[in-house]
Amino acid sequence: MSDRLCTQSSAMNVTVASLLKSGKAFNCSSNKYAVEGPRVWVRFPFLADTLPDGTVEVQGDNNGLTSMQVHAELDDGTLLSSAFSARQVAKHWRSKGSYGLPVPGTDRPELRQQIRTVYLAIDHPKVVSSISLVQLASKQKWDDLTLPLSIMFAALCGMAIMPLIYNAFFYGAMRYNFMLWHSVMIGATVCYTFSSSGLIFLFFPETTLITKMLINYWALAIGVGAGGFFLLRFVEPGKIASWLQILITGTALLPVLVTALVLKIDGGYSMDARNYYHASFLPVFFVVLYAMGHAVRRGSRAIWFQIAGWTPIILFSLDRVARGMDLYIGWPILDYALYFTLVLETIILALGVANRILRLRQRHEHTLRQQAELTLLADTDGLTMMNNRRAFEREFDRNQHEHCYSHLAIIDIDFFKRVNDRYGHEIGDTVLRVVGRTLNATPHFAARIGGEEFTLLMRMDSREKLRNYPANALSEICEALIKAVHDGVPEIQEPVTFSIGVAAIGRRVSLRSVMTTADRRLYDAKNHGRNQIIWFDIAESKSAKPTGTASV
Ligand code: GH3
Ligand code: MG
Ligand code: MG
Repeated sequence: MSDRLCTQSSAMNVTVASLLKSGKAFNCSSNKYAVEGPRVWVRFPFLADTLPDGTVEVQGDNNGLTSMQVHAELDDGTLLSSAFSARQVAKHWRSKGSYGLPVPGTDRPELRQQIRTVYLAIDHPKVVSSISLVQLASKQKWDDLTLPLSIMFAALCGMAIMPLIYNAFFYGAMRYNFMLWHSVMIGATVCYTFSSSGLIFLFFPETTLITKMLINYWALAIGVGAGGFFLLRFVEPGKIASWLQILITGTALLPVLVTALVLKIDGGYSMDARNYYHASFLPVFFVVLYAMGHAVRRGSRAIWFQIAGWTPIILFSLDRVARGMDLYIGWPILDYALYFTLVLETIILALGVANRILRLRQRHEHTLRQQAELTLLADTDGLTMMNNRRAFEREFDRNQHEHCYSHLAIIDIDFFKRVNDRYGHEIGDTVLRVVGRTLNATPHFAARIGGEEFTLLMRMDSREKLRNYPANALSEICEALIKAVHDGVPEIQEPVTFSIGVAAIGRRVSLRSVMTTADRRLYDAKNHGRNQIIWFDIAESKSAKPTGTASV
């Protein structure tokens, strides 16, 4: 008899006894398992010397079966049998990710000696690995490992969930789309680890094998799909060409579509459908590999986090596939490495997300600073560094709602052309700067609106009403200006004086009408000998006294 695993299919009503009696041959070819079902028989020799002492169990990864039987055939042809419903198989689930069904008779040494062959019946198996990965192992060894393995997988799930909490926290403040996709990836990783490790049976003992299988398959498809979308959102704009973006979107959606379609076709996974399922991951796998190189070439920094997170997964997946294809034996411990790399990936990408948020934040702040600088520049007069006409007009508009200014004054330097002519333009500029500084030091809103023309939007506080406002206030400002120019520009021999026209800012009056009034009064001030303030129409009344002290 072959010491390999041999299989054959039968109808559901065939028992092990009738099967053996019929003498129908088992198929022992290595790659062709008789999986048509509905009841698939697996036969393997019980090589007592190669097995550890104590109870031996059949282990395997079984997706979606309905029931199983384990039979031990003794030297004399006696059959020891036990049967398990799908629910019982689920109850015998081990946290390594497989069931463990005791082989009858192995718990009694005198019987164990006589066991020759083990027959396993699997009803309605859904995937080839249900048959190809069956093996015998020590029950005691795996009982001892149950607790440490459960703790390990629970810790892995916990570690993966951590970035999820952190994403939720930051998403509240910064709504970057890639954080959502990262969260979907984490959710899928946790679901996959939780269900495929068998932890799900520990926490939810009522879970069926079909549910576990569906969670595994869906979690992988959704996780990989979300990975593609994460890549698109996470990598800096412009670092992935648009044709490649379309390709990534399409291939990322493929596993999800195929999963849905395949489920619809056979209400579960048939052998063929399983191939379609696995094949549907290949395009996104290669496209993402290409996209990583592509983004590196285009100078993306974010992509390095993906490379760091995904390379171990890709390597360990390849190892698992290679071992599954019997290309080499490898160490069984590598099975767990894949879980570690999945969790490691969520943590590396969480670091990537933090880094990316930081950089987006920095860029945002830089833009805001630039904007503020530009606004300041656009509102500032370059020579005097005071507000310019634009800022003045905006401030006047704001006043229409807020009513903080009561008067507008236009201040014009008298005979300024003469200053320029006598002392040069440089000195003229200095005068303008001194005037600007002095006006800025007043509590009013000051602006330069023309060559040697300035405006003041004047605030009035309650004390001012008693003081012949705004004439007195402007008188003081005028004196301050004359003194400032005298002190600040000693080159100028004669006093520099100012003419001022003032208009009250009524409610709902336009800037143009207020300016016209103030301008008219400034004109009157010029016509009446300059060096004076006029705050009502000359035709109706008399002008203010000259501010006088021109001979500071
Ligand atoms: P008035 O008393 O009638 O206002 O006489 P004025 O000479 O001050 O007025 P006018 O409008 O005839 O001349 C204004 C002068 O202001 C002309 C120009 O040379 C000077 N000016 C305008 N802008 C600047 C500037 O940025 N720097 C300097 N140095 N001079 C300027
Ligand atoms: Mg002028
Ligand atoms: Mg002038």
